[in-house]
Amino acid sequence: MSQVTASTTSIPSLSPEDEDLLRKCLADLGDLLLETSHQIHARPEIRFEEVFASTLLTDTLGAHGFVVEKPFAGLATAFCATYDSGRPGPRLAIFLEYDALPDIGHGCGHNIIASAGLGAALLTRAMLSSDGGPGGTLVVIGSPAEEGGGGKLPIIDSGSLDGVDAAIMLHPSGENLSAMRTLSRAALQFTFTGRAAHAGVSPHLGINALDAAVLTLNAVGLLRQQVTDDVRIHTIITEGGNATNIIPERAVIQAQVRAEDPQTLLDDLKPRLENCARGAALATGADVEIRNDGPVYLSIQPNPVLEQIVEESYGRIGRKTEPHRNEVYPGSTDMGNVSQVVPAIHPNIEIVPGLGMHSREATELVGGKHGDAAVLDGALMLAMTASTLFRHPQAVEQVQATFTEGIRVG
Ligand SMILES: [Zn+2]
Ligand SMILES: [Zn+2]
Repeated sequence: MSQVTASTTSIPSLSPEDEDLLRKCLADLGDLLLETSHQIHARPEIRFEEVFASTLLTDTLGAHGFVVEKPFAGLATAFCATYDSGRPGPRLAIFLEYDALPDIGHGCGHNIIASAGLGAALLTRAMLSSDGGPGGTLVVIGSPAEEGGGGKLPIIDSGSLDGVDAAIMLHPSGENLSAMRTLSRAALQFTFTGRAAHAGVSPHLGINALDAAVLTLNAVGLLRQQVTDDVRIHTIITEGGNATNIIPERAVIQAQVRAEDPQTLLDDLKPRLENCARGAALATGADVEIRNDGPVYLSIQPNPVLEQIVEESYGRIGRKTEPHRNEVYPGSTDMGNVSQVVPAIHPNIEIVPGLGMHSREATELVGGKHGDAAVLDGALMLAMTASTLFRHPQAVEQVQATFTEGIRVG
């Protein structure tokens, strides 16, 4: 890791003229951004089904001079929209998310991520195309299925981040944070196969797959004592027999394990969790099949220089951020995978103080006036951040000096 830190780095600021240009542009486009947010909010689409949202966003980007590629990276609802100033300069990416949650709609507020990110793209494009504007290329990446589908992983695999100097986005929450750390996460499924028998007449002829599942959960419970504080392991039994008078011949556990360090997660914790299931199978005589149950999300690699620029941008829009938090948010996002490949930042914007996402309360708030304020402020904050980087390529060099290439997962 480089020794360059935010405290030893002097970051250039955006000029008053540039700030003025962005604010004027926001005044012109504000209604369009709010309409976009409301339309996506009103039509929640779950992972990989975001046809309406991705079409709405690409139509708008195309109408504002971006060259749109869709489908993208083999995903029907992913896209890449590019604006090239025609002059040399940094290549920056703004990530958009727009998938909803099952049952509760936009309880994670991705309508705000999409519309604030769209606004940031349009404002930054106005900066790039203005008289005396900076050079460079802006890439807007529409990434579907953040909620469990890992839409950013095929985008990374496609090589489309090669040459990107930095990637930015923002996420709504209950506080303004200039940066957020997250946990890496792996998901597993254990399927136990035993032998059915009459539970009253001939239990001795059966092999109880549910016993293997219960024993696995007990072993996992003990494992939780022997791990570091950042580790989270959650399990559910999704199948465990169909009738009480039949020894269950099949049982299924779904499990997730999280830790901050991705290598520790993959090389140490995941095998230990798998051994809980293997040991339980051995003890009961059942067979166990172990498979990955979805993509691995990697923890966010912090970037102190990007964080400092976001912090300054938040100050310019009059939002007070929480003091830098050392504790890790015990959730996960596929933006973490992006941050292992290119310098990236995932700030949070407050809807109302203390709001918990993935709730019906959040669903309602992100479609109302509090959500609207986050769309407009978020668009301006991200546009200021991107414009600072375009205006000052030396800041991009500082961003890269604090970046260490991490791991990739397929
Ligand atoms: Zn979420
Ligand atoms: Zn989210």
